[in-house]
Amino acid sequence: MKCPLCESLNDKVIESRQNISGTSIRRRRECSACGYRFTSYEKVEEVPLMVVKKDETRQPFDLKKLERGIQRAIEKRPVSQVSVDRMLHDIEDKANLKGKSSHEVSSIDLGEMVMTRLFELDKVSYVRFASVYRHFENVEEFVKIIDTFS
Ligand SMILES: [Zn+2]
Repeated sequence: MKCPLCESLNDKVIESRQNISGTSIRRRRECSACGYRFTSYEKVEEVPLMVVKKDETRQPFDLKKLERGIQRAIEKRPVSQVSVDRMLHDIEDKANLKGKSSHEVSSIDLGEMVMTRLFELDKVSYVRFASVYRHFENVEEFVKIIDTFS
């Protein structure tokens, strides 16, 4: 790191200390050229994943909202909370992977992820979802439904 005094690029870290919450590290550095001591901070770069809705508006990805939508489909079905949690985490992982570079995922993609997992988990829940889908005339209508819980 460039020395603020002599602009030399050679320095050594004398001390590293993490803050209590573990979100940043403070480093005391000493310039190898002039001996000047300075401090640098290291932080995790967090860019929230955004959901792009059909109308092109964006909302932060919200796992709770997604869960509410799924809970509606599995109501009174023998689907354990553990399975739902696993499914949610799986979808979250997939969504993060899909939005790795753009930090965005479409509500259409999210809807497809839910459908795929519901199909594996419980056919009745899947059919509930699918019947909602068929009730509407086209994919766009279905996407509107997904938009309500994504
Ligand atoms: Zn220096």
